[in-house]
Amino acid sequence: MSSTVTPSPRVIETLQQYWGYDSLRPLQHDAIRAGIEGRDSLVVLPTGGGKSLCYQLPAVVENRTDLVISPLIALMKDQVDSLRANGVPAAAVYGGIPIPEMRKIAADLHAGKLRLLFTAPERVLSTRFVNTVREANIRAIAIDEAHCISHWGHDFRPEYRRLSELKHFFPKASRHAFTATATEQVRSDIVRQLDLTDPVTLVGSFDRPNLTYRVVPRRNKIDQVADILRRHKTGAVIIYCLSRKDTEELAATLKALGFNAAHYHAGLDPAKRQRTQDDFARERVNIICATVAFGMGIDRSDVRAVIHATMPKSVEHYQQEAGRAGRDGLPAECVLLYSAADVMLWEDLIQKSADDADFVVDPTIIKAMFAMLRQMQAYATSMGCRHAALVEHFGQELGKDNCEACDTCLGEVGDVEDCTVLAQKVLSCVARLEERFGVGQIVDVLQGANTERIRQFKHDQLSTYGLLAEMNKDDIRKRVHDLLDQGLLVRKEVESGAKTWSAIGLNGASWDVMRGQRKVHLAKIEKRAVRSHASDADPWAGVDRECVEALRHLRTELAEEENTAAFIIMHDATLRDLAKHKPVTRAQLLGIQGIGKAKAKRFGDRIITVIQRFRDPNDTVVDDTPPRPSRSRFQSSKTVTAAKAKAFEMFADDASLEEVATSISRAASTTSGYLAEYIALKQPESISAWVDDEAYERVAAAFDEHGSRRLKIVHEALDGEVSYEVLKIVAAYWEGLEEEE
Ligand code: ADP
Repeated sequence: MSSTVTPSPRVIETLQQYWGYDSLRPLQHDAIRAGIEGRDSLVVLPTGGGKSLCYQLPAVVENRTDLVISPLIALMKDQVDSLRANGVPAAAVYGGIPIPEMRKIAADLHAGKLRLLFTAPERVLSTRFVNTVREANIRAIAIDEAHCISHWGHDFRPEYRRLSELKHFFPKASRHAFTATATEQVRSDIVRQLDLTDPVTLVGSFDRPNLTYRVVPRRNKIDQVADILRRHKTGAVIIYCLSRKDTEELAATLKALGFNAAHYHAGLDPAKRQRTQDDFARERVNIICATVAFGMGIDRSDVRAVIHATMPKSVEHYQQEAGRAGRDGLPAECVLLYSAADVMLWEDLIQKSADDADFVVDPTIIKAMFAMLRQMQAYATSMGCRHAALVEHFGQELGKDNCEACDTCLGEVGDVEDCTVLAQKVLSCVARLEERFGVGQIVDVLQGANTERIRQFKHDQLSTYGLLAEMNKDDIRKRVHDLLDQGLLVRKEVESGAKTWSAIGLNGASWDVMRGQRKVHLAKIEKRAVRSHASDADPWAGVDRECVEALRHLRTELAEEENTAAFIIMHDATLRDLAKHKPVTRAQLLGIQGIGKAKAKRFGDRIITVIQRFRDPNDTVVDDTPPRPSRSRFQSSKTVTAAKAKAFEMFADDASLEEVATSISRAASTTSGYLAEYIALKQPESISAWVDDEAYERVAAAFDEHGSRRLKIVHEALDGEVSYEVLKIVAAYWEGLEEEE
C-alpha cells in the first residue's frame, strides 16, 4: 500500500513542532494514518527507517494516550528521554520502578497527561497493569520488535507469545506491529500470533544505500580490525565476536594498540554492563567489542562501522547487526571477516545446543538452522553484489546492476575468473598428500620447491610435484586459502600414535570439483584496495566539519549535564545540518532537522554560541546573543580553508609536518600553525608523530615551571634549542590536557 493522500496539515505541524522534521519518509505517512484511524497494521522498515515516529506521532496528533510494548528497559528509557526532550509527555513502567514514581505515572495517566506509555511484554497483561490503565481508554497499542513473537525470527522471546491476549484485554485498541527483520514466514507469523484484524501491511525497502558492505577473508584479525578502525576516527565502531572470551581478548589487544575500546557481553555483571552501555551512549568509548547481546538497546546513530570478526549464523542476524551502522543516514561500512572455519564452528554449536537441550528439539528446526547457515555462507563466498544479495534474501529486488557500495561493485575484489582447473590441481595435491599436511607443504609441493621436508617425504616423486611451478608461492598460498574460504578444503586434526597435528583435508564438495561436477570461481589475484564509494562526500557538501566537531563537543557537555545519552540531545544529522546552515537566531534554529520548539528553547543559546565562532565575520546576522569568548587562542573563528582541511585530514593519519607541507604547498611555519590548531581542536591522544619524546619531556618540564602561555620565557629557558613551532605544538596539546583535568 502506498499513500495517494498527502499528510494533513495537523500531522505536519505536529511533526515540525515536536520533532523538528519537515516531512515524513515514504511509508511513515501510511503507518501514521493507520495509527490515527485505528486500523491494525504491520510495519516492516529497516533499522534506521524511522519506525518510532510511526507510533509516537498519532498519539500526539490525536491528543490521546497510546501504549508501546518494547522488549528492553533500556530501549524504553531512551525513547521516553527522547520524547521528553522533544516536549512530549511520556513514561515507562517496568519492574523495579520506585513506588512514588509509579504513583506519579498513574496520576498523570488518569489525568490524561501522558501521550505515550511504554511497558514490557511480560507486564502488559498483568492484572495490576491492566487495572491501572483500564480507565485510560487506550486506543492504540504498538508492539515494537515484533519479530520476537516468531520462532522463525532470530530473537524469539516466549513472553511475546501471550500478546495475542491484548485483543481480549484492550478490545477497543487497534494493534500495530513494528519490526526491522521479516521474511515472508516471520511476517505471516506475526499477523497470526497477534491475531491482527485485516492489517495494513507496509514493507519498506530493505536496502541501506548508505552502507558499504565488504567481505574479507580473515587472515590476521587484529591487523585487519585495526586497519578498519583507522579509517573511522569519528563516530563509533561495533565489533561483533562469537564468544565472550573473544570480546575480552580483542578489546584488550586493541587497547594495547592505543584504541579506546571496551568489551560487552551478557556475562558481565549488570552494573558493568550498564556502565559500558552508558560510556558508549555518551561517547566516552567509541569502540565496542561485543557478542550479539550488544544490540537492541543501542541507539547510537553515528556507528560508522560494524565489523563481524566471525561470521554470524544467518543472513537475518547479519542484516540486523550490520544494520546498526549508519542509522543517521551517513556513509558507514559493514565488514565481515570470513573464514570457512566459522561455518564448521556454527555447525558444531547448533548440533551441540540441540544435543544438550533438555527437551527433544524438532529436527525441522535444526534443518532450518543449517539451511540459514548455508545461506549466510553463500553470501560470504559470493562474488556478486552484496546489496542485491541482501535485499533478494528478503524477497525484494535492488533494481540496479551496480550498487557502488560493496566490495564487488567497487571492484575491490578484482575480476572473477574460472579457476576450476587450478582448484583441481590443488585438491588433487591434497589428496596425494593423503590429507596429512598443512598449507606450507601443499604450496611447496605444487610449486616444486626443493626443501629438506620435500626430500624427506619424497614428495618430489608425486605426480602433483611442480604442477603450479609457473606461480609464485604467495599466489599459490592465496589460492589454498581461497579454497578454504569457499569450503572446498577443510582444516582437520590428524592423529598418529601419540601425536596430533592439524592438516588440510577434503570434503564432498572437493570431490565434486575433482570429478568436474562443480565449477570454481575465484577473484583474480591483485592487491585489494579499499576505495570509497561515489556518494561518500555528498552528505558533507557545504558542511563545516570543524563546526560539527565543536557542536559534538557541546553535545557531550549537554549530555553530561542532563545525565542522558548524546543522541537524545541531538542526532549527528542535526549536527551536520546546524554546521551547514549555521543558524544564529531561535527562528533559524527551528528550520534545522531534528530541532523542535522544546530543544530550541532548552539548548538554543548554547548551540548558537558555538556556531557564532564559525560564522564568517562578513556575514550579516540579526542576532542578539553575545559570542562566547574563545577557549583557546588556537581555535579558529573562520571556516577552514581547503588547504587546512586537507592538512587536518593528513594529521589525522599521523602524517609528518614535511609531508603535509609538501602536499598542501604551504610553508613549514604555516603548516605547523595548522598542526597546533588541529591539536587544540581534536585533542589527539598523543603528539609523538610530530614531537619526539625527549623534546616533549623538556618542553613539558619548562611549561610546568613557567606556564604554557609565556613562550618567549620558555624558549629562553631551553637555551633557544627548541623552536617556537615545536613550543606552539606542545602548548596546544598541553592546554588540551589541562582542560581535561
Ligand atoms: P528505527 O526504529 O526504524 O530503527 P528510528 O525511529 O530510531 O528508526 O529513526 C531513525 C532516525 O531517523 C532517527 O534519528 C530519527 O529521529 C530519524 N527520523 C525518523 N523519521 C524522520 C523524518 N521524517 N525526517 C527526518 N528524520 C527522521
